[in-house]
Amino acid sequence: MTNLSTVWAQDWMKNCAAAAHDHRDELIELDRVIGDSDHGENVDRGFRAVVDKVAAETTEDGSTVVDVLKLTAKTLMSTVGGASGPLLGTAFLRAAKAAGSGDLDASTAAAVIEAAAEGITSRGKATEGEKTMVDAWAPAARAAREAANAGRSPAEVLRAAAEAAAEGAEATISMVATKGRASYLGERSVGHKDPGAASTALFLAAAADAASSAVTEDSGNNKAEEA
Ligand code: ADP
Ligand code: MG
Repeated sequence: MTNLSTVWAQDWMKNCAAAAHDHRDELIELDRVIGDSDHGENVDRGFRAVVDKVAAETTEDGSTVVDVLKLTAKTLMSTVGGASGPLLGTAFLRAAKAAGSGDLDASTAAAVIEAAAEGITSRGKATEGEKTMVDAWAPAARAAREAANAGRSPAEVLRAAAEAAAEGAEATISMVATKGRASYLGERSVGHKDPGAASTALFLAAAADAASSAVTEDSGNNKAEEA
C-alpha cells in the first residue's frame, strides 16, 4: 500500500488546474445552457491561483497534505465567484480537517472525500437528485468508503470516487434542477449535464491521476497504524 503524500496533494491541484483549463470551454458551454456561462472561467481562474499559491507557499518536505488543502480552500474562496467558490472552498476546508496529520492511508483518503461531499451539502443545502455538484460528490464519497472498506489502496479509493463522480455527472442529464441558477429553468433544464457535477468528476479524476504518480511508500501494516 502506498499512502498519499504532500506531493500527491500538490499534484492534485496541478491536475485540477490543467483539467479546468483544458475543459474550460466545455464547462462554459454547459453553464451557458442552464446557467450563466461562467463556470469554466470560475474554476480555471480559481485553480490557476491555487497552483500559484501552492508553488509559492508549500514545499514537499516542509508542508503537509493539510497545509495544501487549507491553502486551496482559502484561495478558491477568495478567487472563485458565484456559487461554486464558496462550495468548493468549504469542500476543501472540510477535506483538510479530515486529512489528519501525515500522509493519507486508504481510510483517510475516503474520509477526505466524504468530508468534502459533506461540505458541499452543508454549504449549498442541496440533496441528491437536484442536479447539482452534490450528484457527483455524494456517490463519489460512497464509492470511496466502499473501496476503503474492501481493503483497496488509496489510489484505488480515489479512482473509485472518480468513476462514481463521472457516472453521477452523467446522471444529472435527466434531472430537473431545483437548486442553483439552473432551477430557474425548471423542466427545461432536463437534457443537459450540470456543469458543477461535470467539473467535480474532473477534479476527482485529477486526484486519482495524482495518486498514480505521486505516492510515498507506506512502511507496512496501515490497518494497524490507523488505530
Ligand atoms: P453560479 O451558479 O453562481 O454561476 P458557477 O457557474 O461557478 O456559479 O457554478 C454553478 C454550479 O454550482 C452548478 O452547476 C451546481 O453544480 C453548483 N451549485 C449551485 N448551487 C448549488 C447548491 N445549492 N448546492 C450544490 N451545488 C450547487
Ligand atoms: Mg455560472
